[in-house]
Amino acid sequence: MQNREVIIIGGGMVGALTALLLARQGDIIHLVEKTPCTTPSADEIFDLRVSAFSAQSKNLLEQAGVWEQIPANRLCAYRGLQTWEKGSARLKFDSADIGIDALGYIAENRWIQAVLWQALKELDNVTFHENRQVNSITNADSGVSINLDNNTQISADLLIACDGANSTVRQLLNIGITAWDYRQQCMLINIKTNRGQQDITWQEFRETGPCAFLPLADNNASLVWYHHPLKINQLKSLSNAQLKEVIKAEFASLDFDFEVQDKGSFPLTRRHAQRYYKGVCVLLGDAAHTINPLAGQGVNLGFKDVECLVDLLHNSSDLPLQSILKRYENRRKPANLLMQTAMDVFYKGSKCELSSVRLLRKGILGLAQNSGVLKNRVMKYAMGLQ
Ligand SMILES: Cc1cc2nc3c(=O)[nH]c(=O)nc-3n(C[C@H](O)[C@H](O)[C@H](O)COP(=O)(O)OP(=O)(O)OC[C@H]3O[C@@H](n4cnc5c(N)ncnc54)[C@H](O)[C@@H]3O)c2cc1C
Repeated sequence: MQNREVIIIGGGMVGALTALLLARQGDIIHLVEKTPCTTPSADEIFDLRVSAFSAQSKNLLEQAGVWEQIPANRLCAYRGLQTWEKGSARLKFDSADIGIDALGYIAENRWIQAVLWQALKELDNVTFHENRQVNSITNADSGVSINLDNNTQISADLLIACDGANSTVRQLLNIGITAWDYRQQCMLINIKTNRGQQDITWQEFRETGPCAFLPLADNNASLVWYHHPLKINQLKSLSNAQLKEVIKAEFASLDFDFEVQDKGSFPLTRRHAQRYYKGVCVLLGDAAHTINPLAGQGVNLGFKDVECLVDLLHNSSDLPLQSILKRYENRRKPANLLMQTAMDVFYKGSKCELSSVRLLRKGILGLAQNSGVLKNRVMKYAMGLQ
């Protein structure tokens, strides 16, 4: 079946990319978004919500024709990645070791969303329902219909839920989740440094949780600090000048001067939907899974969901829709679960204070640093190239 009518709930990075790729294939799209998307100014200070995009995600955004639209002064390629346990040697990854220019790219979420929306606005087969939310869903094998909060009714062949971690669609469909709270929060701090453009991202593991440095374009950077919610609340109550002094004392690797520009925090929760589809409604991105952000995989997994579903809808159009959705679930659910579990093993292992675990950790990091081919394979996997 070609030229399906598709409702997409949520126009964040995952929903907007899905809408664009399906619209380009000729599907008729209804995009429902509760918050209007505006294009930020390229001169504004950096937003706190930034993501590291893998080479595979970059390729997908290039195929969608939007990568080039991200202003150069909002995009940072990083060529090195270093990780270590406090007081231990560093495990270093370098893009040159596998003959490529960059391990990944860091950009603000709002810019990725904005360039996708700009491209969507040029298409005639996309109808926007901005400032709107879904109130009810009637989901049958033959099609789906929804009611919005302004009483508009829309019917379609397929509904794609991309409405994020607290997905209303998932709840309206009664799809359960397995979830746990890490009892930690993640503090994001944007700084402006007195150094030129940095191109190495690093992460130090401590018993209280990881601390990370993500270079942003020009002399900007994002610091990520995991800690107990009480500590994060105390840090947030400090003035920017006071926070800078605490960071200088805690982040030994920051050997240059900087100014704190903005700060905020996010709770850390792992969620996984018990199923990815019901009838002709399907979950993608954070609506289906959220992951500990320590390895920057969240939206990259969401983009893999998009790539998989769009490919199946395009290349298996002779199959009934529910068989396509089943295939999507069979491909993406185990892969997402594996990545969630790998991140948790890493995260919990890094916080364990048992001396035997510490020794094992140091041993593994040391072996990995000298493992050559294995290290390069890990690097390629994280970039989505394998
Ligand atoms: C601290 C932190 C750091 C992170 N760092 C990285 C990283 O480095 N790399 C990475 O890959 N990932 C990272 N992530 C994860 C990444 O931010 C998410 O995976 C990604 O934003 C999910 O995109 P999404 O489009 O699925 O959901 P969202 O970004 O949540 O978008 C959902 C959209 O749906 C809309 N919406 C919600 N409810 C409704 C409704 N009822 N009706 C209509 N619209 C609705 C919202 O307004 C929003 O526009 C990080 C996450 C956190 C918390």
